[in-house]
This record gives sequence, structure tokens and C-alpha cells, in this order.
Amino acid sequence: MEAAVRLNEITQVYVTERGASLAIEEINLSLEPGEFVGLVGPSGCGKTTLLSIIAGLIRPTSGTVQIFGETVESPSGKVGYMLQQDYLFPWRTIYQNVLVGLELTGQLTKANREYALHLLNELGLADTKDQYPSQLSGGMRQRVALVRTLVTEPDILLLDEPFSALDYQTKLELEDLLSATLKARGKTALLVTHDISEAVAMSDRVLVMGRNPGILRKEIIIPEPIRHETPFKAREAAEFHPIFNQIWRELETQERKSGVNDANR
Ligand code: ADP
Ligand code: MG
Repeated sequence: MEAAVRLNEITQVYVTERGASLAIEEINLSLEPGEFVGLVGPSGCGKTTLLSIIAGLIRPTSGTVQIFGETVESPSGKVGYMLQQDYLFPWRTIYQNVLVGLELTGQLTKANREYALHLLNELGLADTKDQYPSQLSGGMRQRVALVRTLVTEPDILLLDEPFSALDYQTKLELEDLLSATLKARGKTALLVTHDISEAVAMSDRVLVMGRNPGILRKEIIIPEPIRHETPFKAREAAEFHPIFNQIWRELETQERKSGVNDANR
């Protein structure tokens, strides 16, 4: 089967007035269709850079990205990007916010307007349709951001710490909702998170990045018993803690090696 995402020797050098810095180096990676992959690593190791390259927002310094076999030159309609901040427009209603991507790309039709309503309904937001973002809680706003991402029907979702600004309980609820929603649709997902338990509970596979330069250090396959549970229940599986500890130790070794102070990040 053709990979949903394939990265071939991706290297990114940022050039600023302070000089050139190697953000990520020779990353090779492929995501299979329907796979949910977690990405963890210390701050500044290049996670967001990697997502932006996959999304076609940054052209890598070298290397290529393929989405279902097609080389990415610019943002692809097959890829949806969801960020920590929801970037909802305060002057637009929830329904108008959800439609903004379709509007901007001239794809607004009767069918996808209806699909937007269907998604709002499915994610428990039907009553908020005519409200404004300021009237919603953080968790509801992230659900709106998810609907806005799904309404363009991307095959691949890039999720950059989408739950990190939420309180713990809301985050657990949204993990289950996101997992069920993406599984039901067979979407491929790449989730960046700094929460190891979230990565283990949600993913089929977890990638650990190292920094200076950003590289892929380790790949951990999540055992079947964890994958078959919802993220909430997965945390109770016997296999959960050994995997959590393995990733924890992997990240800890790196912190000691690099010795960079992250207090101000
Ligand atoms: P992460 O998401 O893992 O925290 P980033 O991808 O944001 O890491 O950043 C990786 C490295 O690249 C960091 O050292 C960061 O300072 C640098 N960087 C990110 N974006 C830019 C940019 N636009 N210009 C210059 N350097 C950047
Ligand atoms: Mg980041």
C-alpha cells in the first residue's frame, strides 16, 4: 500500500541574522494510511518545523515530502493542520468559523455546508452554531477547530499539541472524542504532544525526537492491548506503564546529554 506520508531525507536549516542553524537533519519517515502516530521530543527539537514541512507551509532545505505518492510543493488539500491555539475569528459565529476554510478556497457547496452541520452535531456543538467563540469554553473551541479541520475532508491530520492549553479532564474527554472521530473515518494522524501518557494512549506508534539537530531517535510500537482501548481506558492497561517508562527514560537521557536549560521556553 502507498504511504499516506513519506519523508525522504528531510533537512531544514533556518537562516536568521544570527546565522544559520540546523533545525532538523535527514529525517526519513513514512505513515501508513489510517495510522495514528505520536511525536514527542524536547522543546526546540523541530516537531513544529516537521509538521509545517509536511503541511507544505515550509519548503525544506533539502529532501522531499510525498502525500499518497505525490510530491508536495505547496499546501495540499489532503492535509489538515490543527494547532494548540484555535485561531477562531471572534467576529464570526461558530458555523461561520467552521466554513472559513471552504470559503477561502472557493469550495463552499450545499453538500459541505450540510456536512459542517452534521459534524457540529456529531461533536456535540449543534447548540453553539450561532454563538460566538467568546461564549464557548476552551474545550468547545478546540472541538470547533476540529470540525473546521475535518470539514475540508483531509485524509491526513497534523495535530500540534492540540490539547495542551486545556484542563486535564477536558483534555481526556477530547482525546477520546478525537480518537473515535478519526478512527471511524480511517484518517491518518500525526500528533505532537509533550504529554507522554497522551502519546501512548492515543497512538499506534510513538516517535521520539532528539535535538541539536532534530533527528528521529527512536520508534516505539504500542502494544495491541493499548491500541484497542479508548485513550482513557488505555491508561489502565497492564502494558501502559512499561511503555510510558521507556519513553520517559529516552527523553531523560537526552536532557542530560544536551544539558540545555529550557526554563525560558
Ligand atoms: P518544537 O516544535 O519541537 O519545539 P520548532 O520546530 O518550533 O521546535 O523549532 C526547532 C528549532 O528551529 C528551534 O531551535 C527554533 O528556535 C528554530 N526555529 C523554528 N522556527 C524558526 C524560524 N522561523 N526561524 C528561525 N529559527 C526557527
Ligand atoms: Mg512546537
